[in-house]
Amino acid sequence: MEPQPLEAIDENWRTALVVVAHPDDVEFGAAAAVARWTGQGKDVIYCMVTSGEAGIDSMPPDECREVRMDEEIASAAIVGVSVVEFLGFPDGTVEHGSTLRRAIAEQIRRHRPDIVITGNFHETWGGRTPNQADHVAVGRATLNAVADAANRWIFADQLLEGLEPWAGVRQVWAAGSPESTHAVDITETFGTGVESLRAHRAYLDGLGWENFDPVEMLEGMSRPTGTRLGVTHATAFEVFSTTWGE
Ligand SMILES: [Zn+2]
Repeated sequence: MEPQPLEAIDENWRTALVVVAHPDDVEFGAAAAVARWTGQGKDVIYCMVTSGEAGIDSMPPDECREVRMDEEIASAAIVGVSVVEFLGFPDGTVEHGSTLRRAIAEQIRRHRPDIVITGNFHETWGGRTPNQADHVAVGRATLNAVADAANRWIFADQLLEGLEPWAGVRQVWAAGSPESTHAVDITETFGTGVESLRAHRAYLDGLGWENFDPVEMLEGMSRPTGTRLGVTHATAFEVFSTTWGE
């Protein structure tokens, strides 16, 4: 079967807010795209729903939390992102619901992005491997929170704190979705994306994957995606419109 071609994603925007469950979620796929966009002068802000404190088997959460927050901040800096927000939800047991939507809506009202980016939130990655529960909860809540942020009567107490409704989000993108329709060329920034993944040193060591090679891992995704876009390396996104009927 011929691979389905992907369309070039919209790059006519100023600010993007990236909302993911864990430190390392952006680096396993979309960081090279972020590097491209910050290189174009765009603003990208990271928002981590958890601090990834349950991510290292040999390290207790209270110690792990600090290590992983530091690694994410370093990793973000490599791709030109200087603002990293941590919402402090419990790693591994994030639940989709109004508490999560409220926290994400607040971030959207605060940062007023044109584009909101999250990760794949389908039940699988396209095969039989289930997606991780936090990823599913965060993606679904992010999509809802974009609508919440635009409505002054939802989480209205946030407006008493000086925030305004924000209806400026044009699209929500889910990176690495098996239903991806669009992609961006990351050929020039692929290496920067690899470096940002390498910044998760303690986490990668903790996984204990023998002979893990970040280049090989990221190429395994970016090359087939690149072929579908007609370039060497690309990152794929599923695109959700915030305009009714589109
Ligand atoms: Zn994750």
